Amino acid sequence: MLDADFFRRWITATAALVERDAERLTALDSPIGDADHGSNLQRGFRAVTAALEKEAPGTPGALLVLAGRQLVSTVGGASGPLYGTLLRRTGKALGEAAEVSEGQLAEALRTGVEAVMTLGGAVPGDKTMIDALVPAVDALGDSFAAARAAAEQGAEATTPMRARKGRASYLGERSIGHQDPGATSAALLVAALAEAHG
Ligand code: ADP
Ligand code: MG
Ligand code: MG
Repeated sequence: MLDADFFRRWITATAALVERDAERLTALDSPIGDADHGSNLQRGFRAVTAALEKEAPGTPGALLVLAGRQLVSTVGGASGPLYGTLLRRTGKALGEAAEVSEGQLAEALRTGVEAVMTLGGAVPGDKTMIDALVPAVDALGDSFAAARAAAEQGAEATTPMRARKGRASYLGERSIGHQDPGATSAALLVAALAEAHG
């Protein structure tokens, strides 16, 4: 079973990977965006980490809702409301249980990813974070390691895609040939999940 401490370790591990890769994420956002994705997420996850140190919610659901709320309120870019929705809606789907099963987490994450698709209107193939998140949720039924690999493959598969959502879509054909920054950070979120699981 996965308790609040597991979720705290997941989010803390994500924050650490964002710190490690912030420059790479911003560099990816340079040719097909406005070169701020790494700094956006850095600001967001620093706020999340500070909030978790102050409040330490006792359930998985409350922890993810708090983290999501911080992302929405501190990240100015498109990724803030999108990642914020992912964590908040996943957290809400987990309810008030003190511990959840791996199956419940997989199901809740699917609800969260669907909420992101509804909010942003992106579907797989549009060259967004959805291209890493959907395969990860599909693979989570097998194992955390499979989800991590699927997210990484999903992020890499965005390179030949033409962007249909977000800033990169303004570039049309010129968005082809660059890996999507949001799909890359989504793979970090899933890698952190696998790390927390150990
Ligand atoms: P901004 O584009 O506002 O500067 P960021 O640079 O932080 O925001 O985030 C850009 C990332 O957000 C993109 O690489 C993409 O993965 C994701 N994104 C943008 N629009 C959407 C959308 N409508 N649906 C899903 N993901 C999106
Ligand atoms: Mg940007
Ligand atoms: Mg921006």
